[in-house]
Amino acid sequence: MEFTVLGLSEEVRAGVTALGYTKPTPVQEQAIPVALRGDDILACAQTGTGKTAAFLLPTMQRIPVEGRIRALVVTPTRELATQIEEEALVIAGQTGHAVLAVYGGMPYPPQLKRLRAGVDLLVATPGRLLDLQSKGDIDLSEVEILVLDEADRMLDMGFWPDVSRILRLLPPQRQNMLFSATLSDDVLRVIGKAVHDPVRVDVSPASVPVDAVEQYVYPVNASQKTELLVALLEEIDEYRAIVFTRTKQRADRLDAALRKSGVHSDTVHSDRSQSQRERTLADFKSGKHALLVATDVMARGIDVEGVTHVINYDIPDRPEDYVHRIGRTARAGETGVAISLLAHDELEPLRHIERVVGKTMESRDVEGFDYMDRIVPRADRGATASTRTLFSGGVHRRGGRSGRGRRF
Ligand code: AMP
Repeated sequence: MEFTVLGLSEEVRAGVTALGYTKPTPVQEQAIPVALRGDDILACAQTGTGKTAAFLLPTMQRIPVEGRIRALVVTPTRELATQIEEEALVIAGQTGHAVLAVYGGMPYPPQLKRLRAGVDLLVATPGRLLDLQSKGDIDLSEVEILVLDEADRMLDMGFWPDVSRILRLLPPQRQNMLFSATLSDDVLRVIGKAVHDPVRVDVSPASVPVDAVEQYVYPVNASQKTELLVALLEEIDEYRAIVFTRTKQRADRLDAALRKSGVHSDTVHSDRSQSQRERTLADFKSGKHALLVATDVMARGIDVEGVTHVINYDIPDRPEDYVHRIGRTARAGETGVAISLLAHDELEPLRHIERVVGKTMESRDVEGFDYMDRIVPRADRGATASTRTLFSGGVHRRGGRSGRGRRF
């Protein structure tokens, strides 16, 4: 399908061209015509599917250029807010809309100055939006289109009471578009109330990035994960990689250990200041750091092109997080590799992930790595073998034979 058949105006199509997109992604194909009709949308689509353009393009076609906030995009993190703003600014270069992102941690004076100059499309994190609204700096009384981006994440992060307050501040007659990576019954029960008689748009997470990503499991004793990661990186040679850990503390520790081993690494998580995080992301984008250590919350929206590898230093408990993580690579038609370091106690979550993504991941070893003193996981699990046989439970002694495909 082509963008031309979706009903977009010439100006907005010029925006598409400026973004460099030639063909719509599935979520764009499904959502744009519905959004242009003015219907509410309930979309199950994760980052990496092209969802941002799916809501920005029709939104910007439907709102006038007059410097009053007619469209509001609410999103959980600063990183997402700035990414949405960036994409909207490219489209605005053709349509003439005034676009602004407001988020916590950003100084007030420039925001206020730009708000006073007039804004058509406002992108905001919930806290800062309420803050500015309560001070009388933002007028939401003319909002015609509301987009709730990563709604499940906002729920997870405890923002939903804020989002509910925002909903009450908006005119009841409006179009609502809700994007969420997951639409489980629990999530739906809460966030589903934000949309009226919506058209469901489903981009199955399993079919989008997962198929384009080669996925491998590297069984290893928990205490040797860092060592194995360093060996793996040496084997990979050239990479732009994101490594995920379960906690901020583990991210910091791993980052420090990697640096010690000579890896150009940096970390991004919620304990770091806004400016630190921005600098880290810029350094990663420019290639100064080839590796970024991240936690799930912060990495959800990181949109960096050309990520070759996603490495799960820790296997996430929730399959959605796995799908999100590996969606950082193989974006928009590229291919990528996802590697999971699997410790013995992570078999259960791995099995769960495999059930959700519908495939058994191939196990590998790093050739020449000294897998020592461990409850030994087996690396010979082929595509059909059951995960139950993955760990054999033997103890392997230092100095033993090692290498890819080795049996324990
Ligand atoms: P998103 O899901 O909105 O975070 O988008 C994921 C990535 O896909 C971003 O880097 C976009 O720039 C890119 N993208 C979105 N739509 C298209 C398209 N139609 N063609 C090519 N790339 C796209």
